[in-house]
Amino acid sequence: MTEVKSPLAIHGGPTALTAEPGDIFKWPIVTEEDEQAVIEVLRAGKMSSSDITKQFEKAFGEWMGRTYALGYPNGTTALRAAMWALGVGAGDEIICPSLTYWASCTQALTLGATVNFADCLPDTLCIDPADIEHRIGPRTKLIVPVHYMGHPCEMDEIMAIARKHNVKVLEDVSHAQGGLYKGRKLGTFGDAAAMSLMSGKSFAVGEAGVLVTDDKSVYEHCIAYGFYERTGAPSNYNPTEKCITDPELLKFQGVPLGGYKHRMNQTCSAMALVQLKYYDERIAEIQRAMNRFWDLLDGAPGLKAHRPAKDSGSTMGGWYAAHGLYRPEELDGLPCKTYCDAVNAELDGHYRTSPGCNRPLHTHPVFHEADIFRQGKPTVLAFGQRDVRQGPGSLPVTERTPETTYGIPWFKHDRPEVIEQFAAAFRKVAEHADALR
Ligand SMILES: *Cc1c(COP(=O)(O)O)cnc(C)c1O
Repeated sequence: MTEVKSPLAIHGGPTALTAEPGDIFKWPIVTEEDEQAVIEVLRAGKMSSSDITKQFEKAFGEWMGRTYALGYPNGTTALRAAMWALGVGAGDEIICPSLTYWASCTQALTLGATVNFADCLPDTLCIDPADIEHRIGPRTKLIVPVHYMGHPCEMDEIMAIARKHNVKVLEDVSHAQGGLYKGRKLGTFGDAAAMSLMSGKSFAVGEAGVLVTDDKSVYEHCIAYGFYERTGAPSNYNPTEKCITDPELLKFQGVPLGGYKHRMNQTCSAMALVQLKYYDERIAEIQRAMNRFWDLLDGAPGLKAHRPAKDSGSTMGGWYAAHGLYRPEELDGLPCKTYCDAVNAELDGHYRTSPGCNRPLHTHPVFHEADIFRQGKPTVLAFGQRDVRQGPGSLPVTERTPETTYGIPWFKHDRPEVIEQFAAAFRKVAEHADALR
């Protein structure tokens, strides 16, 4: 007989998970209604010029509670257009957390600007408001708070700093559609908000993005930048529309200032209209499921929920890319990787956790040496920007995340009997950490 060191599955004990998870992780939820909506676009024979995108923009703007909404081919382009419309130009700086997906900020380089990366808070993993103000310089145009993995940023503090220094705020809501900060919807705090609607996100319709704002000038600049058929120029080929009043922009009508074409795919728009109808009820179920998971783990040593306090009025939206906080000091320094390997054995292949989340951006060579404009110098300096490059050790909380975070299952359905077993797996390993050292 082999010696059993502990009840842990990694040592030969029984797995904590025995139930079949079924479709608990499947996302997005696609029904015949989505299929029908897409087929209608195909059958109408006007895949580029139907007004389905405008219907989606109207519905999404109303749902967000913002005056203007524009559909984009993806979140990356929506964020780049927003940066330009909010005044980012050659020589400027934006402030962005280092712990995010590259598309929160890398577009600044194409605008001739640079990125000054800020650290995150250990419990929210969102930008640390205390690490923003000292980074503001004479050329700082924009702060980009990212509601990271669904967690709302400290918007009161961020907006106060931005207003004090006359700096604009662009919320990246790619992870947090439908989330709330103190009872108010994310994406309604900044001068504009932009986000991905990519198939892996919590609002998922394929390759698409959307921008929202209440600021007419931002809206008109976005039109002028990438929606040539909405600038009012007559066309032999397209139905045209005039969405611009500013004479400084009107004189360029017909040719987009960015040289970009920002038109959302119509089949995605059709699906997005259907998804929007059910989104609130679907994320309400996700919230019940995910909160159930964390409630079950309350008090487990070394584990901490990544979510706002229950009575704060803040929520995690659709819990995109759900993660947990790991506190190795409560487990005698047990490495996060060792913990994750043991949890995976308990889960019997139905979900795999791993340490860390996005790789920090501030040390990436793109922000140190990439010469995008072929000028013989790093683009982050090539337009007279300040040198704000930061090496390893400069953002300690961010750099520690491979040891302080790990993936958790992203439940789309609230099925207590299944969720209880998943939570039991994470708890079991935390409670038997001694056996792993
Ligand atoms: C996915 C993502 C984007 C980019 O969106 P795409 O639709 O993939 O272009 C931007 N910011 C964040 C934080 C993201 O996760």
